[in-house]
Amino acid sequence: MKAKATPVSGGCLCGRIRYEAEAFLDRGYACHCSICQKSTGQPAEITVLIKAGTLRYLNDVPKYYVSSSVGKRGFCSECGSRIVWQASDPRDDWMTNLCVGSLDRPSEAKIACHMYADTQLPWYKLCEDLPKFCEQDFDAMMEFIRVDQ
Ligand SMILES: [Zn+2]
Ligand SMILES: [Zn+2]
Repeated sequence: MKAKATPVSGGCLCGRIRYEAEAFLDRGYACHCSICQKSTGQPAEITVLIKAGTLRYLNDVPKYYVSSSVGKRGFCSECGSRIVWQASDPRDDWMTNLCVGSLDRPSEAKIACHMYADTQLPWYKLCEDLPKFCEQDFDAMMEFIRVDQ
């Protein structure tokens, strides 16, 4: 699908990490997978996709934890704030996404779907009218979120 990228800025809680990027603010999603739950310490990770190659760090860079064969998660080594998910393979750069709470204006972001809804916590109700994809729908899920760049 086509979407318009908007300039955004953001950073971590302590201010050590500051970034600028172009984000697809209406193409956010909630990922309920167990890795995202552990990584955030929350019921889900809510992120927005960014335009490949637009993410720029203004002072310090995140520290990364390689959380799976497909990607790594960036966080501030000082305050621990989660910032970014990045693909291991540069060809998957379109999947780079920013944690929505790290944006300076998070209210401008909107989520478009749920991922890994099979592990959504039953009491965590969020935009329940949006499409939900389960683990076995992986290809459909990727097809749905992919933005033509
Ligand atoms: Zn920090
Ligand atoms: Zn996840």
